[in-house]
Amino acid sequence: MRIKLWASSAGLITLMLLIASSLLQPVSYALTPTPSIPTPLPRVYSQAEIHHLRTLIEERYGIGFSYPTEWNAANASEVMWFTDGLHQILEALDIATYYLYIYGEPDEDVTPIEYFRQHFDRAHIEIDRTRAITGNFAGNTLPRYANSQVIGYTIQLTGLGMDNPYTLVHELGHVLDGLLEDAPHLAFVAELGGEWTTDRWIPGEGYTGNEAMFPRAVGGPNEDFADTFGQMLVGNLSPEVVAVRYDFMREYLPIWLTAIQALPETTAAG
Ligand SMILES: [Zn+2]
Repeated sequence: MRIKLWASSAGLITLMLLIASSLLQPVSYALTPTPSIPTPLPRVYSQAEIHHLRTLIEERYGIGFSYPTEWNAANASEVMWFTDGLHQILEALDIATYYLYIYGEPDEDVTPIEYFRQHFDRAHIEIDRTRAITGNFAGNTLPRYANSQVIGYTIQLTGLGMDNPYTLVHELGHVLDGLLEDAPHLAFVAELGGEWTTDRWIPGEGYTGNEAMFPRAVGGPNEDFADTFGQMLVGNLSPEVVAVRYDFMREYLPIWLTAIQALPETTAAG
């Protein structure tokens, strides 16, 4: 029942957004500055720089670190690993923020970083660097609880997960799905299909031939969704590349973002 209500109000909101965006387009072209993805910082390898990068990520994106001491490098190779990993985390957030702003419906006076934080600050995300995750995955998202309430999300990343922007952005898809109590991945299944066999999920429309693009999609409908979110928010989907999933994300992403902004602050707030 909750889902049906969601779907009908979602359709109405879409219609309103379409009308609003067609009315406002000439004005927004004149006033909204064109966003850009920040140029990656030069790489300096030292423990002081590791500390600086962690602080930068916390201050720019409001994303913390579960165990700050696990970023104290024990030797020169760890200095390189942690520094490169933090640069990759920063770059992943820079890219996702750019596309969130492009595909969302930001107010004209909001910067891309402010727009990112309007949605993800309330998730109280912490990153936990880890050596291995069960099932050989490069990333994993765990809700944090207090008094049976979700108070935040911890994103675990292995060395492999800090080697590309995609892994972290896929995990942000799980965070968005969690904030909205699975409504995004349920809408994804309702629109694009997919089916459980006895032992695995057969991904929905747009998957065939895209196993490399959607590497976790056979893991279940929520993974199928997170893969699609991840590829969309690193800029790999377009009208030419997996159009059916691109179209789905263009339609629903602004609706989800509006819904997150409307959540009471107590939801997933510490
Ligand atoms: Zn996943």
